[in-house]
Amino acid sequence: MKTRKNIFRSLKDEEFDLLVIGGGVTGAGIALDAASRGIKTALVEKEDFGSGTSSRSTKLIHGGLRYLQSFEFKLVREVGRERSLIHKLAPHMVIPEKMLLPLTKDGKYGRIDSALGLWFYDRLAVVPKNDRRKMLSKQKALQKEPLLSEEGLLGAGFYSEYRTDDARLTIEITKTAIQNGAVCLNYCSMDEFIYENGIVSGARCSDQIDDETIIVRAKYVVNATGPWVDIIREKDHPISGKQLHLTKGIHIVVPHEKLPLKQSIYFDVADGRMIFAIPRLKTTYIGTTDTDFSSSPDQVTVEQEDINYLISSVNQTFSEHPLTNSDVIASWAGLRPLIHEKGKSASEISRKDEIFISPKQLISIAGGKLTGYRVMAKKTVDLIARKIKKETRKKLPSCKTKNIPLTKNPFQNMKEVEEYTEEIKERLKSAFKDPSYFAQYLVANYGNDTNVILAQAETSSNLSAENLILAELDYCINYEMVTNLSDFFDRRTGRLYFNPESIIQFIDQISQHAEIKLGWTKTKTKSEKEKVLSRCISSNS
Ligand code: FAD
Repeated sequence: MKTRKNIFRSLKDEEFDLLVIGGGVTGAGIALDAASRGIKTALVEKEDFGSGTSSRSTKLIHGGLRYLQSFEFKLVREVGRERSLIHKLAPHMVIPEKMLLPLTKDGKYGRIDSALGLWFYDRLAVVPKNDRRKMLSKQKALQKEPLLSEEGLLGAGFYSEYRTDDARLTIEITKTAIQNGAVCLNYCSMDEFIYENGIVSGARCSDQIDDETIIVRAKYVVNATGPWVDIIREKDHPISGKQLHLTKGIHIVVPHEKLPLKQSIYFDVADGRMIFAIPRLKTTYIGTTDTDFSSSPDQVTVEQEDINYLISSVNQTFSEHPLTNSDVIASWAGLRPLIHEKGKSASEISRKDEIFISPKQLISIAGGKLTGYRVMAKKTVDLIARKIKKETRKKLPSCKTKNIPLTKNPFQNMKEVEEYTEEIKERLKSAFKDPSYFAQYLVANYGNDTNVILAQAETSSNLSAENLILAELDYCINYEMVTNLSDFFDRRTGRLYFNPESIIQFIDQISQHAEIKLGWTKTKTKSEKEKVLSRCISSNS
């Protein structure tokens, strides 16, 4: 990985075919698609890669079962088919996850409509025969998940989805884009557009770390800034026509023993909405909400009211294990960048994506799902390829991302992932009380590069939890552009949400190590440490 200075210099000195604004999953996907077709591509992200909605989702690669209700067959078909493809591109990171849909006497779905809906869902997504939905009796449903309340339970649907880590997925797509020649920089904000003959031809961008401003020149500019899309469109041209409609969704995390689910559940609650509860290593996380949001996308927070809603929803369904506020160890809030539809409420608005082209040729893409990032990128880059062909007669290759693995040393299938996880577990056995937890965590996060991290952790002295986390930090600084402790604990490792106690345990060692590696002053180290601890402690209080 080039140093920040070198990347910044490339952005300043070179001329690009394409500038992508926004380093969420959409921007990263576009950068990868474009670079792999030979389009000289730059990407700037004003904060960290994935720091917007792409680290605050439900972390599912799913077809969107609930969109069948609004007859969005095209959307369900498109994202449903993408699931297994993205799984193939990164089987260690996009992992098959069976979902249980409980059917209750007073619930939203009856046995027949659920059976039909799930049957149709599988067909649209071309799910292989052995993975297709099963309809379970009450007894079988309780075997799958003994925590379900027996009262009123009729049975359950049992069907296939995939889980992931959205921020890791975004960073791996970005790394793959860089391997394919894209020049990508985090903490580099696009401030204003520049124009040539009335057509957008780049942007003035500022480095948020070194306080330097540059002009990045490009023939085409794509605005892939998710919830910020309209703010960026406004910088180009007063918006007319369609606009964004932002809705907020939050999640809460509790220790697994507080809601010891055996498996992921998608359940309906009293107000008719659907909620996920997903076990993840030592925790269970629950979400989400869907409320209109009209403040600045830079200030999206979890409110007590949101937490109360999720806790009471869980307590209605799993009455034996009532959760309280003090069980919540972490939470996050994100914004859906939906396209406004007159008269529709937050939950009713379609999740489909759309491209807008301004009179000055700024291309903006909004809407969509994490799951559909590759298709959204293809649509955008196909459009640019058509423009290039029209203007230069040069025909670019068609989209290649179906066949580009999202990691340097890919696994071929789940069997290889499981065998590798077993190997890692054996390697950790002598040093860790819980080798299975760490093996699963490392392989899901870093894939085959777990070897790189462990090799370093083993050379420093004996393998220990402390050496492991320090080696992770080195890896993330060297290969993943980590510039501060939030990048590391929030988006590279997810420890802020799923293992906050490890932060409290190792914060001194990590901050001292970061100080040396990143050349921080003592004051900077102190403020970084305080910032992360305040996020940890506020999650714990
Ligand atoms: P973002 O990830 O927000 O990226 C935009 C980026 O642009 C940001 O990082 C921002 O910092 C950057 N930016 C803004 N302004 C500038 C500027 N001036 N200069 C440079 N950069 C700038 N989808 C699924 O498939 N599965 C799910 O389980 C799922 N769950 C969800 C749950 C919730 C609560 C929410 C809110 C969404 C969920 N989604 C899910 C949808 C999915 O997360 C989003 O569609 C997707 O992450 C949007 O990605 P994006 O790249 O378009 O936007």
